[in-house]
Amino acid sequence: MKILCVGRNYVEHIEELQNERPEEPVLFSKPETARLINGQDFYIPEFSKEIHYEVEVLIKISKVGKYIQPKFAKNYYDKIGLGIDFTARDIQRKLKEKGLPWEKAKAFDGSAVIGQKWWDKTDFKEVQDIGFSLWKNDKLVQQGNTKLMLWGIDELIAEISKYFTLKMGDVIFTGTPAGVGPVQIGDQLVGKLSEETAFKVNVR
Ligand code: ZN
Repeated sequence: MKILCVGRNYVEHIEELQNERPEEPVLFSKPETARLINGQDFYIPEFSKEIHYEVEVLIKISKVGKYIQPKFAKNYYDKIGLGIDFTARDIQRKLKEKGLPWEKAKAFDGSAVIGQKWWDKTDFKEVQDIGFSLWKNDKLVQQGNTKLMLWGIDELIAEISKYFTLKMGDVIFTGTPAGVGPVQIGDQLVGKLSEETAFKVNVR
């Protein structure tokens, strides 16, 4: 499986990092080794002093596809979940300044939290109206709704599949809303989709 991620897909998050609003989705990937396996603890890597959480809605691909048109995109995924795109913000800042690729900041081991709980897309009346949130030590830190995405799920699948053949089991991280922030050893992060818990992660 591969993990494909979208950057800058919510206006308020673009503003908080003072990024430019992109003309097309910003895409990057994480290798399979970035996956934090079900319920494992997240260990802060020694190379960063500033690891940020980014809660994101996940899409699981159910069929091989390339050059998928937006109107057919719904046939290519079956599950919706929630995860965290852990980001070494200090490293990313340096890489951005130099115009270098982001992998060291985004694709390191454990940086892709994929919640254990998945929902069938048919569980939702409207996939572009799903609320989600992230709680740090029982305090609400991020709140979003898929209706606030700049590019909706179907458009993202179309755009991503221009560049990367999608295969069954691939996971798409659809971007984070505002409210990203740092984690410290001892923190517990809980992600909720439609009020139900999708994952719990302890930071070590
Ligand atoms: Zn992200």
